This record gives sequence, structure tokens and C-alpha cells, in this order.
Amino acid sequence: MRNRIAFDALSLARILDFVTPTLCPLTGAPTSAPDLLSAAAWSAIQFIDDPVCDRCGAPFASDFGSGAVCARCAAHPPDFDRARAAVVYDEASHGLVVSFKHADRTELVRAFTLWLERAGAPLFTPRAVLVPAPLHRNRLVSRRYNQAALLSSALARRARLVSAPMLLERTRATPPQKDLSPEARRRNVAGAFAVRAGMEGMAEGAHIILIDDVLTTGATLSACARTLKRAGARRVDALVLARAMRGAAALG
Ligand SMILES: [Zn+2]
Repeated sequence: MRNRIAFDALSLARILDFVTPTLCPLTGAPTSAPDLLSAAAWSAIQFIDDPVCDRCGAPFASDFGSGAVCARCAAHPPDFDRARAAVVYDEASHGLVVSFKHADRTELVRAFTLWLERAGAPLFTPRAVLVPAPLHRNRLVSRRYNQAALLSSALARRARLVSAPMLLERTRATPPQKDLSPEARRRNVAGAFAVRAGMEGMAEGAHIILIDDVLTTGATLSACARTLKRAGARRVDALVLARAMRGAAALG
């Protein structure tokens, strides 16, 4: 009987696939691939591999040896200890991130979790705590879910780490960072985060890995890292799906 039920469920899934095929969120082509991306989408995505800046994870054109940091990090070290990103934030990955964030394509979390696991491997320690970049409650109501929290929970299950989605809160609603200069971004998010009352003990002495979808200038993740370090976190890293490559030519 159990086999019969399993067969029926499989048949139903195939019929539904035929009637309402899954569409690749990037190309719109029908796809039955378990990761939901068409072959064309796969070839358009630029995955980030070593060598990278040991601090911010920006790709290097040449290998400068282990521990090398880019000119920007040497001049202005970020407030997080290390950051890593799965893919370059360009036209292709932008389409995926926007689908995930604004179009309810939350099933993309399956593929994104695998990407984050690969990119985040150098950061993981057995007691690391994953903390998603928080949304202000007003934005959470309008968007209905926090995409960073979905990624954090799924990655924690897969990598057998702890996710603490409530540890950080955004205490002040801030205008979107998009279209702001780097300095305006820093000012925009300064003092906008806090460790939630009653959860201070979880931050103290902890190794925290912040999770977010995109790193542009790093202003939001730096502000989160400052807040966590003030609360006693020992180390704060950041892991994102995609990172912008602005000024990348100067990074080597
Ligand atoms: Zn760097």
C-alpha cells in the first residue's frame, strides 16, 4: 500500500509538472531540474572562487598568497572579520535575488543554500551561530518574509549549525540603501540595529556568521557586526549570496 501511495504521489507530481511546468526564474524557460534553473541560467551565473581577499571576499585576478587582503580592506578594514559571497552580483544574479526577495520565489532557497554552503565553508566552525540581517517590522509586514532569515534557517539545517533569527533587530526603519552613496549608506544604517533584549547572553563570546542576500558596500553588515561586537561577540563573519563588484578593478 505504501508503494502504491508513493507511486501515486510521484505520478501526480509529474502530471502537475506537465500541466504547470516550473519556470526558470532567470530565463523563464520551463525546467524540471531540481535546482529550478535552466542550463542557460547556470552558464550566466558567475560563481566566486579563490583567490579572494581574505577579509572581504572580493575576487583577486592573481593569487597573492594566503591571508592577502585587497587595497580597500587594507585602507579601511570592515567591521566584520571576514566575508564570503557565492556569486558576483550582476544582471543575472540580480534577477534571481529580486525574484527571491519580491516575487515569492522562495523555492529558490534550495539552490541558494547549496551555493552558500560552498562559499561559506572557510567560515564555518562547529559552534558558529547564523544570524540573518534583520528587516524592520514595517518592512517585514509588507514583504511577508525576511529572505535572509529563510536562507539562514535552511543553511543551518544543512550545515548543522544554529540559526538565531531573532538575535538582532532593526530598531529604526531606514530608507532603502539602493541609490545612496557609500557614505550615505553608512549614515543610513548607523545605530539602526540592536541585540534583542534578553538575548545578550547568546552574543557574548560567540562566533556569529551574518547572513544576507547581497553585499554592496558592506555598510549594513558592518553596522550589524559593530552591534554584535559591542554585545561581546568574539568574531563576526558575513556570508552573502551575491556581492557587487564596484571598484573591483582596483582590487587586483
Ligand atoms: Zn577586501
